[in-house]
Amino acid sequence: MPAPLLRTSPRALLTGLATGAVLVTTLWLVQAEPSGRLDVLFATLAHLSGLLAGYGILAMLLLMARVPAVEHGVGADRLARWHALGGRYVLTLCCAHAVLALCGYAAHTGTDVIGAAVDLMGYPGLATAAAGTALLVAVGVTSARALRRRVRHETWRATHLLTYVAAALAFAHQLSGPDLAGGPLAAWLWTLLHTTVGTLLIWYRLVVPVRQALRHGLRVVEVRVEGPGVVSVVMQGLGLDALRAEPGQFFRWRFLDRRLWRTSLPFSLSAPVRDDTLRITVKACGDHTRRIRRLRPGVRVLATGPFGALTAHRRTRRKVLLLAGGVGITPLRALFETLPGDPGDLTLLYRAGSAAQLVLREELEAIADARGAALHYLLGPSDDPFDPLAPRALRNLVPDLAEHDVYLCGPPGMSRAAAAALERAGVPAARIHSEQFTF
Ligand SMILES: Cc1cc2nc3c(=O)[nH]c(=O)nc-3n(C[C@H](O)[C@H](O)[C@H](O)COP(=O)(O)OP(=O)(O)OC[C@H]3O[C@@H](n4cnc5c(N)ncnc54)[C@H](O)[C@@H]3O)c2cc1C
Repeated sequence: MPAPLLRTSPRALLTGLATGAVLVTTLWLVQAEPSGRLDVLFATLAHLSGLLAGYGILAMLLLMARVPAVEHGVGADRLARWHALGGRYVLTLCCAHAVLALCGYAAHTGTDVIGAAVDLMGYPGLATAAAGTALLVAVGVTSARALRRRVRHETWRATHLLTYVAAALAFAHQLSGPDLAGGPLAAWLWTLLHTTVGTLLIWYRLVVPVRQALRHGLRVVEVRVEGPGVVSVVMQGLGLDALRAEPGQFFRWRFLDRRLWRTSLPFSLSAPVRDDTLRITVKACGDHTRRIRRLRPGVRVLATGPFGALTAHRRTRRKVLLLAGGVGITPLRALFETLPGDPGDLTLLYRAGSAAQLVLREELEAIADARGAALHYLLGPSDDPFDPLAPRALRNLVPDLAEHDVYLCGPPGMSRAAAAALERAGVPAARIHSEQFTF
């Protein structure tokens, strides 16, 4: 029997990261020398912000290292949200560190801040530290919501890779800094921490994907039109059971086709893994997704994963409501077929603009029939005065709604509105399990 999958809970991960921050602060505390002098005060605070910024960079990299236990327990979308939020704090700490160090030096030497900046650039390690900070600022600026929407995903991603260079520069700066240079044990631990995160990144972002590609030899075997602008892609490979992909999870797919090989895109499995085949169902909404419908059988595919925590392990109740909006049906279709349950335990609500936009309809109806599960289509434009996702409308369809776990997947606006309506209808937030299709 295969070993059970390890999953880190969101709380355990946050507790671990917070404990690390407390330990770093303790490292600073034992070295801090109380003084009433302004320059010392600036320098002491610069050390604290610098150490926390270095630790923060490491924590942000760890969140994105794609460690399976973290991905499966916390979920990629939540990790991405924490990374985006944490990144802002780390950037603030980096800038605070630079400003405090400058002010400390200026107060110590009696020069102005500009003169201090010019002086400090002459010190070995400080120019590279400044370059690292500038890179982080560039990454932060391109990630700001207003700009991110205008930048192509590939450009944003390429800029983001600079974080690794920034992290290396920051590490070199910290090792030569007073907090670590004076304490061999602290320097050793700091190096160990960096080596561990670096190894995890290399292993899970480079080695594992290459190994999976060589081992499974995945190829497209069929591309099927499911509805307007929506296609299913069926892929076949060897030994796919070893991936241990669960219904509700997603992979990052790179199709080795002339038009698509440059990018890897996240898509959920729209059916459970069976007979060494994987299936995704894709809605055309941009350049790459439009090209997918022109894929031909035989095209090789690199799939990295599985990722995501929208799986059966989150379930706490016998009764389950699956609530899908648009192409958010894909992971829920796989769960609808596989979540254990007796007749009457499962309900699927599928929100779409019109009947023509429903996809995988025959399959959903066949599953509902076979399992004795309820299936309702909630059709109509999103600005319709009748809101089928209002608390009362939801309770009419599912009278014992408050007794359910809810799996929710749909466009961001619909997901937010549905989660709020579910809570008003009595479902506790902890029992609403959702996944966003945007990082
Ligand atoms: C976990 C997850 C599961 C998903 N599952 C499905 C699914 O089953 N079916 C489906 O149709 N869609 C799914 N999506 C959405 C799908 O990945 C995007 O629609 C697709 O990447 C858009 O690519 P594009 O170049 O055609 O569109 P663009 O117009 O270039 O981008 C549209 C949006 O998609 C985002 N995006 C583009 N490229 C990427 C990328 N490489 N990685 C992450 N986001 C990107 C952009 O930030 C942008 O907001 C899923 C997304 C995520 C995050």
